[in-house]
Amino acid sequence: MKIQRPKGTFDILPYGADESWQLSDLWQYVEKIIRQTAAEYGYREIRTPIYEHTELFNRGVGETSDIVMKEMFTFPDRSERSLSLRPEGTASVARAIVENNLMQQGAIHKFFYISPMFRYERPQSGRYRQHHQFGAEGYGIASPEQDAEVIDLMLQIYHRLGLKNLKVHVNSVGDLESRQAYKAALMAYLTPHFAELSADSRTRFEKNPLRILDSKDPKDREIVAKAPSILNHLSPDSKLHFHKLCHILDQIQIPYVVDDRIVRGLDYYNKTVFEVLTENLGAQNTVGAGGRYDGLLAQFGGPDAPGVGFATGLERVLQVMMAQQVSYPKTDRPFIYFIPMGDGAREKAFNLTAACRHNHIPADIELSAKKVPAAIQNALRCEAQYCCILGTNELEIGTAQLKNLATREETEIVLDHIIPILKTIFIR
Ligand code: ATP
Ligand code: MG
Repeated sequence: MKIQRPKGTFDILPYGADESWQLSDLWQYVEKIIRQTAAEYGYREIRTPIYEHTELFNRGVGETSDIVMKEMFTFPDRSERSLSLRPEGTASVARAIVENNLMQQGAIHKFFYISPMFRYERPQSGRYRQHHQFGAEGYGIASPEQDAEVIDLMLQIYHRLGLKNLKVHVNSVGDLESRQAYKAALMAYLTPHFAELSADSRTRFEKNPLRILDSKDPKDREIVAKAPSILNHLSPDSKLHFHKLCHILDQIQIPYVVDDRIVRGLDYYNKTVFEVLTENLGAQNTVGAGGRYDGLLAQFGGPDAPGVGFATGLERVLQVMMAQQVSYPKTDRPFIYFIPMGDGAREKAFNLTAACRHNHIPADIELSAKKVPAAIQNALRCEAQYCCILGTNELEIGTAQLKNLATREETEIVLDHIIPILKTIFIR
């Protein structure tokens, strides 16, 4: 029996993928733009392990979050330690900053990551058990310019990738003081509706009632539509922070809507929270999201330093690109494809192929087909630009025809001069 990939996973292939967003050229292009843009904004790459002690996520993401309650891939290792595949990036980044004493080396740290994440969810379009996130985080700056900077970075990347019609929703969940005041008001409003709430929301009622605002259940949504707004319960400090952020976003011309129903599913947020939405993905309409997490480093035994960041799901970004018919560049294909006919020619062709490659000219060689038409088919399949057929005759006279596979034009070239000639016509 054939073995299949696990449910909720997919392969990223150079060709032959089930969906156009699963082609590796697209992934490479998107990752390149992300790396370039992040660097231009002053963000450096961080890579953390793909699994961590389960405790990290329990404490970092929060015991009452959906991720910890029902989505983690948790397993004991051979020494019965509980490990979990990383469901999100921020807890690991915060852990790494504290563990490596980075805050002692400087007050400000701006990092990005591109990594696979694992969540045991019901697989559907835009929702996978292994998905990939690009995230960026800034630590050490409490003022709202830092919030605006990460939002701007996120949108700049979407913009450079050619995404259109995205909506930015921003909100403030305040500080602890604001949230306590709001929680009381929200619970007072929800109490008469308790019996009508979904089972999930009834569980959240005691533990984390703010999460009820996040519910996707239609009846819950109807009830929370009339709930009091957290924006009316912000402490003076949180209110000022939010106003300043909105002002900065106006100044740098980022359109947004204030949406007081956004609370985010992870427990570590305070003050700013935001989401970027698309109309191209159906139910899975959040392309990326983030917020401020000022207490996170301290929670992991680090200094009391603020932080803010976002994560965006690459699958969803790629799916929106494909839905909006964005074009993207391909990686290098062979510039020249050598087709040897006979054993003597094979040796010469292999030497020429190697010489091209050593000189940064993408090249490939036919090593299987016995007949020229089949070899040309192979050259076309790997999208080579030129082919060069080498037979005994060519070897004897020392010249061969360089054939343009698109126009079928042929040019005679001296084999001993092939590298300087190709160097003049190959432009990357
Ligand atoms: P959702 O409400 O869609 O479940 P979330 O709040 O769980 O999203 P975050 O934890 O904020 O998502 O993750 C950041 C981003 O990662 C999301 O905005 C989304 O683009 C992407 N994402 C999250 N879970 C998945 C998944 N299972 N498959 C694909 N992408 C995902
Ligand atoms: Mg989720």
